[in-house]
Amino acid sequence: MRKNIVAGNWKMNTTLPEGQQLAKDVCQAVAEQDNLKCDVVLGVPFTHLCAVKAIIGDKLHLAAQNCADHDHGAYTGEVSAPMVASTGADYVILGHSERRGYYNETIETLRTKVDLALAAGLNVIFCCGESLEQRRAGTHFDIIRDEIVGSLFHLTPEQFTHIVIAYEPIWAIGTGETATAEQAQEIHAFIRQLLTSQYGNTLADDTTILYGGSCKPSNAAELFALPDIDGGLIGGASLKAADFLGIITAF
Ligand code: PEP
Repeated sequence: MRKNIVAGNWKMNTTLPEGQQLAKDVCQAVAEQDNLKCDVVLGVPFTHLCAVKAIIGDKLHLAAQNCADHDHGAYTGEVSAPMVASTGADYVILGHSERRGYYNETIETLRTKVDLALAAGLNVIFCCGESLEQRRAGTHFDIIRDEIVGSLFHLTPEQFTHIVIAYEPIWAIGTGETATAEQAQEIHAFIRQLLTSQYGNTLADDTTILYGGSCKPSNAAELFALPDIDGGLIGGASLKAADFLGIITAF
């Protein structure tokens, strides 16, 4: 059976003390739940990884929001997948639309990053999704197929068990506009079908597919109740422990 996951993406928010406080608050709120139905991942800035790991221990999972497309060497300012793994993080978020858009990350770059992350022992939360123009033009299925096939379908079935997919329509990220339940389910079912065609039923059924884009306590339950939505990648609402908890408990 696939796992439910709620993953926070703090993006470039919180100073170190603020991040430590947020991690403590989330950790405490989660510890008070006796019937948790999902794994919780905190996707924090690189600078916070070690300190947040010291707070959350093994109670929550820890993610970086990116890693370099090289393993080591003269790449000033970059942080490699082995460096991320050495902090105790067990996930890395790759392919977020902000990285694709602002930092020109291509399908090929992401393929390399996925390989390096897996080689370092990390699980990957791989983001895909279409822009508003692409949805209006009716090319959203092609966009999502190209992103997934181009960066992931060279993986072996064993490697693919370390992949979580996050469908994030770009027009819903940070805009307050959420995909309708029907729109989200349609794409999630499409993604699962795509995985079935490449890897077969069992692996497709076992792959966690998250929804991301203005997910909040008030709409999480409706989204998470859908058959192919296994949790969320949460931006804005992961920055307030109470809101994040409201989403974690929405299953
Ligand atoms: C995100 O950036 O991954 C995201 C889903 O953001 P938000 O929840 O703020 O829309």
